[in-house]
Amino acid sequence: MYAVRLKGTAKTLRVGKVVCLARNYSDHIRELGNETPEKPVLFIKPSSSVIGNREPVVIPDFSKDCHHEVELAVLIGKWAKNVNAKDALDYVAGYGVALDMTLRDVQNDLKKKGLPWEIAKGFDTACPLSDFVPAGEVANPHNLRITLKVNDQLRQDGSTAQMMLRIPEIVQAVSAVFTLEEGDVILTGTPAGVGPVKGGDRMVAEIEGVGRLEIPVQ
Ligand code: MG
Repeated sequence: MYAVRLKGTAKTLRVGKVVCLARNYSDHIRELGNETPEKPVLFIKPSSSVIGNREPVVIPDFSKDCHHEVELAVLIGKWAKNVNAKDALDYVAGYGVALDMTLRDVQNDLKKKGLPWEIAKGFDTACPLSDFVPAGEVANPHNLRITLKVNDQLRQDGSTAQMMLRIPEIVQAVSAVFTLEEGDVILTGTPAGVGPVKGGDRMVAEIEGVGRLEIPVQ
């Protein structure tokens, strides 16, 4: 089980489940030709898919199209169930940088057949996570530049201001379905610019004021 550090504190938290929101940036919905969802689209990555900074993403041999998705990660600090949006930030311990690595060919095949996405989203190494910054140190999580470079080339460049569902509403929606526990993580969706990586590439994901992840691809 992977543990993350809350920067500037003695605290480490064991990462539990990683609940992910799909289709939360309209420009990314358009680039994949998806419909804007009426209800939040949620899926889970298992804690076994989490890796830390500088650990490699290993593309499974059954995929030829592994995509990067840079996302703001929300670390849950205490037990939460059926939380109201107005109280939701009380349950957030910190913010970090995540990559929602996605086997796009596998996902498209599963989508076509109406099957679950876990194989495309939850494989080993599919969830690189940075250390987390305490929530109190991030004045406004909805106005941060979020970027991803592959081999120094800028691929994704957005702002968390573009998120359609905001963090309080996301925590409310997620906690209405899944009880959240200390150490669980929520990924809040990706801006436009997703694309493939291959063995030998080097990804650098950054969120202003939150952190940076440097991840090689194998
Ligand atoms: Mg995603």
